[in-house]
Amino acid sequence: ALLRRHGRNPHALVQILREVQAHQTWLPRDTLSLLAHELGLTLAHVEGVASFYRFFHMQPVGEYRLLLSDNITDRMLGSEALLADLCQQLRVEPGRMRADGRVSVARSSCTGLCDQGPALLVNHHHVITRLDAQRVARIAELIEARTPVAAWPAEWFEVVDNIHRADVLLGTPQAPGVALAAALARGWQALLDEVKQSNLRGRGGAGYQTGRKWELCREAPGNTPDNTHYVVCNADEGEPGTFKDRVLLSRYADSLFEGMTIAGFAIGARQGFVYLRGEYRYLLEPLQAVLQRRREANLLGAAIQGREGFDFDIDIHVGAGAYVCGEESALIESLEGKRGTPRIRPPYPVEHGYLDEPTIVNNVETYCAVTHIAVHGAAWWAGIGTPKSTGTKIHSVSGDCERPGIYEYPYGTRIGRILEDCGARDTQAVQVGGPSGVCLSAFEFGRRIAFEDVPTAGAFMVFDRSRDMFEVARNFAQFFAHESCGFCTPCRVGTALVVKRMDKLAAGQGSRHDVDVLFELDKLMHTATHCGLGGAACNPLRDTIAKFRPAYEQRLTSLYFEPAFSLDAELSIARQMTGRDDPASHLEIVE
Ligand code: SF4
Repeated sequence: ALLRRHGRNPHALVQILREVQAHQTWLPRDTLSLLAHELGLTLAHVEGVASFYRFFHMQPVGEYRLLLSDNITDRMLGSEALLADLCQQLRVEPGRMRADGRVSVARSSCTGLCDQGPALLVNHHHVITRLDAQRVARIAELIEARTPVAAWPAEWFEVVDNIHRADVLLGTPQAPGVALAAALARGWQALLDEVKQSNLRGRGGAGYQTGRKWELCREAPGNTPDNTHYVVCNADEGEPGTFKDRVLLSRYADSLFEGMTIAGFAIGARQGFVYLRGEYRYLLEPLQAVLQRRREANLLGAAIQGREGFDFDIDIHVGAGAYVCGEESALIESLEGKRGTPRIRPPYPVEHGYLDEPTIVNNVETYCAVTHIAVHGAAWWAGIGTPKSTGTKIHSVSGDCERPGIYEYPYGTRIGRILEDCGARDTQAVQVGGPSGVCLSAFEFGRRIAFEDVPTAGAFMVFDRSRDMFEVARNFAQFFAHESCGFCTPCRVGTALVVKRMDKLAAGQGSRHDVDVLFELDKLMHTATHCGLGGAACNPLRDTIAKFRPAYEQRLTSLYFEPAFSLDAELSIARQMTGRDDPASHLEIVE
């Protein structure tokens, strides 16, 4: 039935694997073999896809799979102690399944709940916020009693929006259909011109002009007689510290779908996809309910709002735990049912995107912004923010502040203003844009959020003076090593080497030589990696060494070379075997 529902479409492989695993908790080889046969794929291909995504398991992981969010902000809230507690109470080692097959516990990259962490993902479907010792103890009891997750206390799964400052996008939502009617009244060409003149730039980080992207896509010839084009929404906000799309998807889904429909009208597409990150699986049913309402209101489907020839619908594709799929070409590969390996660009998706057809990929926030431009026009939008950065930007604020949550400001807002509003005190640093972004010290809090000054995809992590910025950078280095897709050697090996050197420094065995090696690795990865993940992996390292040098220097035990281990300690086994422990059996004189 599942295969029939997906039309035995090999491009739906990631979705099929996800649904199969939801039923049987893991993906045995027999199952993969059967799927390969039914979908007309090779077993090697199916196994290659299943092994790429962290949320797919080719070995048993237990009836209960617990993933603790491991962003630095979760750690600041005590996630490591809670992980140890959870493992002790469940008698399980991190990363391993308990012998009776009941449960496994592991760390996961940021789950997008930094404003209400520490967060726990249960069976890839349910999120528990504000984890504490009481909840850990109760979770252990419920698992021992084999209580279904659906019967766990409902308040644990409550995810609040935490909107502290609203502007254009987070103000009163427009009624469904209003923006679409305005767009249809303008006509596609005038609409396209309006989006271009508004100077709306993509909110996902790169900041490419949205109107120009749409125009290029509209002009690109498709490969099919009916000139197929696609609209894709990147809702894979995996950058640690970013959670504003979670709120847009929870509360402003109509605005997102309306923006995508408007984009479909502008570029002449009939099909849209939302690529929803696997960690937001719990949003799938509510989003599908909104889509269904829109179909019933003829805001999606055939001849939308009575306009003959304007047919458009949207499918939701759920990711499976791969940060790299936030890169648009990797996202498209995943949509096509493949491993999420980034493509070589050019050609860009506007010409050769989903199934090689012209495709636009925009962020959730960008599509929501389009609805306001359709209604109020380019001049109104361009009057907000700065000339080069028009409109507003939504920030996900977390870390050392009294009011973590969602803040929307016009572009051009000072970093210091955001810190004041969120109740941050004695702030040492702010990581803007997540680990791939920039780390700002107190001297830079007068700088402004803008493409021409401090660009951001939305993360705003605050660190007060009690925080060790070396440990912050080390957590980010671990994140990049964990998320490297392994396709190219400089990133696969480089990110691991960076973690190793930083671990050496953390163990008190560092020297100036190690810092020099870190600089060399940064240079190599910045220039030799295949996609932006590898290129950005050393950003936190570079920034923190430059701005918080004492955090590194206090860990250097010598200026020159320091081995990563104690040779004398390594000889202890030999001493045990020979039954010696006299001074001469040590490398150093024992007093
Ligand atoms: Fe994969 Fe890293 Fe290479 Fe990007 S840079 S393709 S994430 S290995």
